[in-house]
Amino acid sequence: MTPEVRIPADLLPSDGRFGSGPSRVRDSQVRALVAAQPDLLGTSHRQAPVRSLVGDVRRMLAELFSAPEGYEVVLGNGGSTMFWDVATFCLVDRVAEHGSFGEFGSKFAAGTNAAPFLDASIVRSAQPGAVAVPIGGEADVYAWPHNETSTGAMAPVKRPDGDGLTLIDATSGAGGLPVDLAQADAYYFAPQKSFGSDGGLWFALLSPAAMERARRIEEHRWVPASLSLTAAIDNSLKDQTLNTPAVATLVMMRAQLEWMLGIGGLAATAARSEESSAHLYNWAEDRDWARPFVARPEDRSSVVVTIDLDESVSSDALRRQLRANGIVDVDPYRKLGRNQLRVGVFPGVSPDDVRALTACIDYVVERMAS
Ligand SMILES: *Cc1c(COP(=O)(O)O)cnc(C)c1O
Repeated sequence: MTPEVRIPADLLPSDGRFGSGPSRVRDSQVRALVAAQPDLLGTSHRQAPVRSLVGDVRRMLAELFSAPEGYEVVLGNGGSTMFWDVATFCLVDRVAEHGSFGEFGSKFAAGTNAAPFLDASIVRSAQPGAVAVPIGGEADVYAWPHNETSTGAMAPVKRPDGDGLTLIDATSGAGGLPVDLAQADAYYFAPQKSFGSDGGLWFALLSPAAMERARRIEEHRWVPASLSLTAAIDNSLKDQTLNTPAVATLVMMRAQLEWMLGIGGLAATAARSEESSAHLYNWAEDRDWARPFVARPEDRSSVVVTIDLDESVSSDALRRQLRANGIVDVDPYRKLGRNQLRVGVFPGVSPDDVRALTACIDYVVERMAS
């Protein structure tokens, strides 16, 4: 396809991938994959090489998040969506309270609400673009997303008042947002966002209270083996998984963790996302045809930036032009249905590329209007 607007090469970002998940895979991750041939790829996950890979990933995640004493890094197959089911079965005792302010938070709330062995869920909701978190009290689980990928709103991770376990969906927040893990009993995510790897696995940093809860519940509640958190914990402690994991995904994950720790850990990775997102919000505020979608500055995500466009600038047409120039996946969340751009600025995306992106958007918008 020939672009109607050809962006000059010197304006283009070094890498045109700005998706909110799956997100940009860094070259060094692909090189790590090539280097994993033949000693890791295609070898048994019950033998030392893959087990030490799993061990490295677990150890590096604990280091990245400064896991408090007694917390464990647990993993399993199925991605974050599967972890919602694991948590519904193994962590919610009687009733869950959810913060729901977008697609992902609402999906987990719908999951616990539909479970026949649980009471109806308590749901605190807010319009897309705002934030709502549990207020605490009678529920035995409080759950909300650290970052709502569908809207670009982020929420504080702070325990509500009450004795419930705090479960944080950090699928898009983990690795790009600062966090104090002492404020959560499960901080869970999948590898295809900040970690720039592939989907299909889930990781959870679990507190002693969360692990204790799972053991107690699984003593009396039937749980399918693939959803058993105690089975996942017991396997993870041995650097194993219940069934065969995605080895290539783990290889790319380890390479990203090496990079993250090498540049200074979570403080450094969060600073990159913060710099990129601040640039985008400032840029949007400076244009009379663009503005940040999330109203309250403190709710604006530093990893997924949503920008509303004036009706004079069609997001569809703009994105078509960008795609023809190699800049891809700045699409709004499909169900939100807004004339919007959504930009994934996970740590793997360099702030320089984000500055190049806005220069390219300006270039195209000027020419589209004429
Ligand atoms: C992407 C995403 C999910 C879904 O992750 P899967 O691994 O595809 O199940 C869940 N929650 C949030 C906040 C996400 O961004």
